[in-house]
Amino acid sequence: MKTELNETHDPRARSFVESANTSGCDFPIQNLPFGAFTNGQKSSPRLCVAIGDKVLDLGEAAGRGLLGGVDDVTCEACKEPYLNSLMGLGSARWTALRRALFRLLGENSVTRAEAELCLCSQRNVTMVVPVQIGDYTDFYASVHHASNVGSLFRPENPLFPNYKWLPIGYHGRTSSIVVSGTKVRRPCGQLMPSSAGQPQFAPSNRIDYEVEVGALVGVGNELGEAIPIAEADDHIFGLCLLNDWSARDIQFWEYQPLGPFLAKSFGTTVSPWIVTAEALAPFRVSSCHRPAGDPEPLPYLTAPNDAESGGFDMTVEAYLRTSAMREANCPPHRVSRSRLCDMYWTFAQILAHQTSNGCNLRPGDLLASGTLSGPGEDEHGCLLEITRGGARPLLLPDGTQRTFLEDGDEVTLRAFCERSGAVRIGFGECSGTVIAAARQH
Ligand code: MN
Repeated sequence: MKTELNETHDPRARSFVESANTSGCDFPIQNLPFGAFTNGQKSSPRLCVAIGDKVLDLGEAAGRGLLGGVDDVTCEACKEPYLNSLMGLGSARWTALRRALFRLLGENSVTRAEAELCLCSQRNVTMVVPVQIGDYTDFYASVHHASNVGSLFRPENPLFPNYKWLPIGYHGRTSSIVVSGTKVRRPCGQLMPSSAGQPQFAPSNRIDYEVEVGALVGVGNELGEAIPIAEADDHIFGLCLLNDWSARDIQFWEYQPLGPFLAKSFGTTVSPWIVTAEALAPFRVSSCHRPAGDPEPLPYLTAPNDAESGGFDMTVEAYLRTSAMREANCPPHRVSRSRLCDMYWTFAQILAHQTSNGCNLRPGDLLASGTLSGPGEDEHGCLLEITRGGARPLLLPDGTQRTFLEDGDEVTLRAFCERSGAVRIGFGECSGTVIAAARQH
């Protein structure tokens, strides 16, 4: 079911929070993404919604009775420290809450004075991961990324024969998922240089980032009952940004035959804001156009609504800033810009595939896209592709070069959706800095 557009998508709508009305702002009133914060006095997280440069404390707004038209179950979910309960309530209640927040924060809000008591500056709060993520799976849905990486290792045959038949994925680790701004420690692991006869245990010297988008599951499914592709979109609560930090040297030695393990589980950074599927409704596009000769997906991965509007027209950018650039006040340098709608598989196809064996998803589960690369030279979503496996260094504006990340390097992902007839919405930042490996014993 495609989300209907309603008054909350009206491009003329404005907020009484003036900063939300400035052009280029990530969080206009048409966005209303969910997050969670802590501040000095309150140690337990509190759910919130971003508006301009402020956050609205959702529990406070619910407690003051400011969420008109929202039922008690939803109000109680707004007072919890994590979004999981709210995510499990389903689209009718998400829509009612979005409408209430839209009225509360609109320029003609009749409860503006009380709403202002629930607002605080984003500068004065600390954002946390707003979801208790039960399970995390990472996919490989960009055919451009899969082809570029495959051609480094198997130039004559970059894609495995299964690639165009099913969304490839692996089970990731949730305990090391951290919020934007958290430092990421360089991991140690087994490295096997091609010239060496045996591996050594040492700090990785091939740390990479991966530009990804994560889909957060809303309503789940019962064990043993697959989610049909035509209904899969209804189970997606929203999207966030995700950096799947990767140690390429550890990965290269460990990945066969069961896939990535310690090369990926030392840190995964997510943006603090979840942009809801409803906010993204104006930016839905058809699923990726398959070149002539590619197989039609099997029926369980095919539905007319997915073909018509299974994609999201979302642009994702990666920026790199070294510690020397930071000291010289050099701005972060954009290293890539790619588009989510270039994914070979849609999130609905990914979700239908993951449940096709009867595996149950639960509210708050995270399904990540895999590295998002496009066909262009400036659309490569990781250093492995940009530098062709380290063979062609990346030149930065201050003259320094990079093959892989060094200590002090900061990687920031940003994303936005824009089209004529709609207000641009953004995703905030997903940022992290690599720090030196722990001292070895
Ligand atoms: Mn990945």
